[in-house]
Amino acid sequence: MQLDLRDMLAGIVRMLPFDYTLTPPTDFTEGSSIFYGVTFTQPMRVAGEITNTAGYMRMTLTLSVEFNAPCSRCLKDTSDSFSLTLEKTVVPADVTQDMDEDTIDDYAVIEDGFLDMDEQLLDLLYMEFPSKILCSEDCKGLCAGCGANLNVEQCRCQPEVDPRLAPLQAILDDLQQAENSNPDENE
Ligand SMILES: [Zn+2]
Ligand SMILES: [Zn+2]
Repeated sequence: MQLDLRDMLAGIVRMLPFDYTLTPPTDFTEGSSIFYGVTFTQPMRVAGEITNTAGYMRMTLTLSVEFNAPCSRCLKDTSDSFSLTLEKTVVPADVTQDMDEDTIDDYAVIEDGFLDMDEQLLDLLYMEFPSKILCSEDCKGLCAGCGANLNVEQCRCQPEVDPRLAPLQAILDDLQQAENSNPDENE
């Protein structure tokens, strides 16, 4: 969206609220593994305001987006949301003329009375989006050996003991433990 700030620059309005949606591009293939498998289920919402206090213009906004993505540990399809708050000083382009690019990034720059929001916000989404999506904080993930989903099943890497041989296995385990704790006794 292009925000029209001409009335604010002319001193006619002191506050400009905005609330709109922005659809992130779905083609994130170019050098952006961070969005691999991510589907945005709703357009990104952008809500905030620009205020002009005696010529000092300040923008505050919150962007929020809902998405589906595979859990980074167990690959389970996971719904989640992400939001962030942004505050920037708003200046006309001529103020930034002598600034280097890194400094300009700290400002929202008005060109010919308009503020171009979307590119900046999509860049921000790209930079701040979580690189790890988890189905739950304590997701146990997949076993690297057998691929078992450890949230719902046992790892199959260790052969299971036949229940009929379990007493024998217990004796063997005891013997091994005794051997390990008293290595000298067996010599
Ligand atoms: Zn998971
Ligand atoms: Zn395993």
